[in-house]
Formats: sequence, structure tokens, C-alpha cells
Amino acid sequence: MTPLDDLLAQARACTLCPLPHGHRPVLRLGRGARVVVIGQAPGAKVHASGVPWDDASGAHLRTWLALDEAVFADPEQVAILPMGLCWPGRRSGGDLPPRPECAPRWHPPLLAALADPRLVLLVGSYAIARYLGAKATLTDTVRAFASAPAPYFPLPHPSWRSRLWMQQHPWFEAEVLPALRARVAAALQPS
Ligand code: SF4
Repeated sequence: MTPLDDLLAQARACTLCPLPHGHRPVLRLGRGARVVVIGQAPGAKVHASGVPWDDASGAHLRTWLALDEAVFADPEQVAILPMGLCWPGRRSGGDLPPRPECAPRWHPPLLAALADPRLVLLVGSYAIARYLGAKATLTDTVRAFASAPAPYFPLPHPSWRSRLWMQQHPWFEAEVLPALRARVAAALQPS
């Protein structure tokens, strides 16, 4: 068992915080992953399937990245490490935030186990807050994506709400997505 295998087994057995629907950490990492996707937390559908981004938001995200399902599902190319590994449950109007215990417990050792993560996608406000400490709004942070320190690339969460947000901010499709796709393709190039 490699050190990463050992860490993954520990993470998948984690019961650190109380959860209304039980503990089911959903993550996918391989040591060779060049692109890391740090999203929010699984929703009910992903909690049921155990497959990361196995929902409409995942399909939307893959379109943004211009990645087919096979590449996105290959842990030696794309690592999936949400801010909360387990579904936190619901509140009125949507899911609860990712559990605050999770990223401090699991991100440092898991990210350190990757050999060459070239691009880290911060998908949504929780990931952006942790890794960029952004004081600006999410919209302003995404618009200033080119100023984010390497290897980070800030993005909104690709939920259904982002469709309206994209209509209101056409620069995202015109400027951010082409740059994002170029960064992803470059990161996945073999050395
Ligand atoms: S959300 Fe994270 S910290 Fe909480 S039980 Fe799941 S894996 Fe552990």
C-alpha cells in the first residue's frame, strides 16, 4: 500500500464530525494527478452513488473544462478533493455548507501526497475562501482569475444557479472559459 493509498483508506473511514445521513467520504486522487478540483461537498445524488460529481453540476463542470468523462474520472489525471468529503445534509434552500472540520483535517496530507499538481481549480466560495482568502466577491474574484497565484484558478460552483449567473456575466464564457480550458489542457500535457 502506498502512502496515498493509506491516506485514502483513512479518509474513507473518517467519522470525525456528526452527519445527518451518515459518513460517506467521496473523493478520488491518484499520485500523478495534474489537475485538482476542490469543490464544495457531495450532494444527495453523489452521496448515494459514491461517484464524485455524478450529477448535473458535474456535467456542467466537465463542459467548462472541455474534458470527457474518461479523463475526468482518471485519478492519475484529475484529482477530486471537495472542501467537505461527506454530504453535510440539507437546510431550507439547499445543502448545508461543507463541514468545517474536513478540509483542515484532510487537505494538507492528501495534497502533499500528489507528485505534481499543476493546476488547482477552486470551485465555489468555500474553496476560494480557504485557498485565496479572497476579500472580494466571488464574481470579482473569478473575473480577476488571471491574478490568482499559481496553481490556483477560481471558479463559481457549476450548479443550476450558475446558468443565470453566466447570463448576467457574459465575460465568463467569453474570457474565463477559454483561459480555463487552455490551462487544463496544458496541465494535462505529459512532461
Ligand atoms: S465530512 Fe470530512 S471530517 Fe467529516 S466525517 Fe466526512 S470525511 Fe470526516
